[in-house]
Amino acid sequence: MTFEDLGLSPEVLTAIAEAGYREPTPIQQQAIPVALQGRDLLGCAQTGTGKTAAFVLPMIDILAGGKAKARMPRALILSPTRELAQQTLENFGIYAQHTDLAAALLIGGNNMKQQEQALNGNIDILIATPGRLLDMVERGKLLMMGVKHLVIDEADRMLDMGFIPDVEKICGILPPLRHTLMFSATMPKEVRKLAERFLHNPKEVTVAPPASPAETVEQWLVAVGNERDKGKALRELLASDTVSSCMIFANRKKDVDTLHRSLKRHGFNVVRMQGDMAQREREVALNAFKSGEANMLVCTDVAGRGIDVFGVSHVFCFDVPVNAEDYVHRIGRTGRAGHRGRAYVFATPEDVKALQAVTRLIKRDLPHAEIDGVKTVSLPGIPAGKGPAANEAPEKAAEEATEGKAPRRRLRGGAKKSAGQETSPDADADAEVEADVTEDAKQSAAEKAPAKAEPAEKKKADSGDKNDGRVPFGESDNVPAFLLRPTFIEQDADAR
Ligand code: AMP
Repeated sequence: MTFEDLGLSPEVLTAIAEAGYREPTPIQQQAIPVALQGRDLLGCAQTGTGKTAAFVLPMIDILAGGKAKARMPRALILSPTRELAQQTLENFGIYAQHTDLAAALLIGGNNMKQQEQALNGNIDILIATPGRLLDMVERGKLLMMGVKHLVIDEADRMLDMGFIPDVEKICGILPPLRHTLMFSATMPKEVRKLAERFLHNPKEVTVAPPASPAETVEQWLVAVGNERDKGKALRELLASDTVSSCMIFANRKKDVDTLHRSLKRHGFNVVRMQGDMAQREREVALNAFKSGEANMLVCTDVAGRGIDVFGVSHVFCFDVPVNAEDYVHRIGRTGRAGHRGRAYVFATPEDVKALQAVTRLIKRDLPHAEIDGVKTVSLPGIPAGKGPAANEAPEKAAEEATEGKAPRRRLRGGAKKSAGQETSPDADADAEVEADVTEDAKQSAAEKAPAKAEPAEKKKADSGDKNDGRVPFGESDNVPAFLLRPTFIEQDADAR
């Protein structure tokens, strides 16, 4: 099936061809014709399946004929998080570039005055988080009676974040005669109830989730004796030439700041994101990371949740997360849209309990990484898992496996630093990381609670590549064909 078969306009078809999309994804194939007919839709689809285009593309064509008015959007897209709302706006900008349609963003944290001013222009589509939207409506800055099209995106995440009452309120103030699309990665009964109340005879569409991190992310454990060695190990890994773009997670906002400072001092091109930063500062950091101006982002779980940055090659869990589920969210930032990624979790003997919760959740033991110049230790109660054999020299890995030894990952040679980076460790920075992080790690260890284990699908062992230049790291063959084709972003990157 092609995009032409779906009945989209020439303007939209041109935009998606320019975006490098060649064929619609399963959710697009099923949802677009239904949405174009004006029928309500309940879509069970996750991020990574192409769901944004599945609702934005038909919305563009449906709205193309009408006229926009100030403070009276004609369509509303509700997103659970600011970051998702921003990403949707970015996608809209790409898909609607050959039309006159305009969209505005209404999200918490951003300057209220500026957003209010944006509403004064003619807007067709409003992309909003529920709280800020209600705020604006209650202040009388926004009229909702023109909204004839509503999208509720990531409804299950709305539920997790406690936004369902706000969504219900919003649905209550919209015209009852409207076209509603709702997407959710899972269908808990609360989401289904919401659909029953606010959707009319919806067509239900379900697509398989994208490959899980267990399939696309090669996972390693870095077990060291103390916090100082964690810092050293991290820098060694970051300096390895396979790290093209990475996210580094720390448990606490303060640790994010400390790590960020330390890595900067060591010459790494790093930005940070944590909840205490002003929204503007966070946006600047995220944009720098997205554009490739900075290739490393240090963040907390909350700040890093939902960030969809194309081509993150590595995730580093500098701390074992307090909640095991966060580990899965963290490593899911790489290995996205069918590409391969690599994740490392750093642990000291103090982290054993939290680490056991992670391995219980993911139902596998992690292979132990060996890093040049860093003393690794074995942790009591943490058996070494088998490494992704195909990632190393296959014969050697097979040999080790038959000998019953866990394949261990060794970085080639010493740490490689790019021009301008220091070659000797910065003793002050090390001491700072050690002092600050140790202090907080103690508190964080005290807070660690065993996380509830969820059934995880049993996945076959990952068979990644060694990234030795033969196969580009980040490519894979166990994904839908459409995701393997170069997108416009990749083409841009190639051109840079
Ligand atoms: P989403 O699930 O909307 O977050 O989309 C996941 C990624 O897939 C985004 O980076 C999109 O740009 C990309 N994408 C969406 N539709 C297609 C398509 N038909 N072909 C190739 N890439 C796509």
